[in-house]
Amino acid sequence: MIKNLIRTNIANLTPYSSARNEFTGEAEVYLDANENWQGFVSFENANRYPDPQATALRRRIEEVLGLPFAHTVIGSGSDELIDNLIRIFCEPGRDSILVMNPTYGAYRVFADINDVAVHSVDLLPDFQIDRGALTQFLEDERRERESGRLKVLFICSPNNPTANAFALEEIAHICTLFDGIVVVDEAYQDFSTKESSATLVGRYENVVVLRTLSKCWGLASARVGIAVASEQIVALIAAMKYPYNVGGPSQALALEALGKGEEVRAGLAAIIRERERLQAVLPQIACIRCVYPSDANFLLVRVDDERALYRFLAERGIIVRDRSTQTHCAGCLRFTVGSSEENERLLAALKEYSNG
Ligand SMILES: *Cc1c(COP(=O)(O)O)cnc(C)c1O
Repeated sequence: MIKNLIRTNIANLTPYSSARNEFTGEAEVYLDANENWQGFVSFENANRYPDPQATALRRRIEEVLGLPFAHTVIGSGSDELIDNLIRIFCEPGRDSILVMNPTYGAYRVFADINDVAVHSVDLLPDFQIDRGALTQFLEDERRERESGRLKVLFICSPNNPTANAFALEEIAHICTLFDGIVVVDEAYQDFSTKESSATLVGRYENVVVLRTLSKCWGLASARVGIAVASEQIVALIAAMKYPYNVGGPSQALALEALGKGEEVRAGLAAIIRERERLQAVLPQIACIRCVYPSDANFLLVRVDDERALYRFLAERGIIVRDRSTQTHCAGCLRFTVGSSEENERLLAALKEYSNG
């Protein structure tokens, strides 16, 4: 079934075979990759090409995150993997993707760059999936299919910018409903108490789960994203990605972070504590109309006159995200949960604005 979804040129691709792909054992003299034998910076082996398969990192990801080695591939952030998936399955100028607005803007941007059309089915006003509208859209699309077709459906859970996670059974149902690829972007899964869709990978051949070390693991600068999928889809991504897409220093930093599980868990607990404190205190401030529930490390809040409030905060050196132009998000700002000092500054400024 997956086979019929792959873009023809990708299905027929002979992948680039790098020096580090062809010889993976241990040797004493490496004269195969035209590297400089000398290095000039403090990172050990900076002069050598990194492991294209990120083998050590994927082994540690299996140990620490429980994502099976044979079912993972590493991207330069999950953003790269989003782009890879669109390029593997969507024929430019012909095929399309589906997003559920309001959601992460990168899906649309990468589709636009690849000349792939974007359809959308809005979420309900409470930011849950509109199952009726989605079912109808998929039925209509299937009926009207001529040359091009809908290939990839993006579900962001927990969703950015609405902060809610969708129920696992809802996502599982969509995997049976849709005959294309279902991508579940779990960038914020570490902050959620809802079950990960990673368990669906063994159940449905058309699901891809994306994780990242950019948020909970504190490594946004290293650019390390993880795709979890069937061995077939993992092999496709591995074949079409840049061979050395994740640098050695980034792989080393990721290995280091994953070795600090206890510290990261404590850091996560601190973020959840701060999130709960903000959730309790924000509704008491006059300019805040509503704080939405959050399974993530940010809060979507509806306020009076978001533009004026945004400017007021910016004048005090506090930058938040204006999400007010997104579907169902009129009047909404998004606050990342910061340190307790940062959150105190935000709360003080909001009170000052309300009293002013
Ligand atoms: C932050 C974010 C990402 C980007 O992750 P990287 O791994 O840093 O590329 C992906 N998806 C969503 C929904 C995000 O909010």
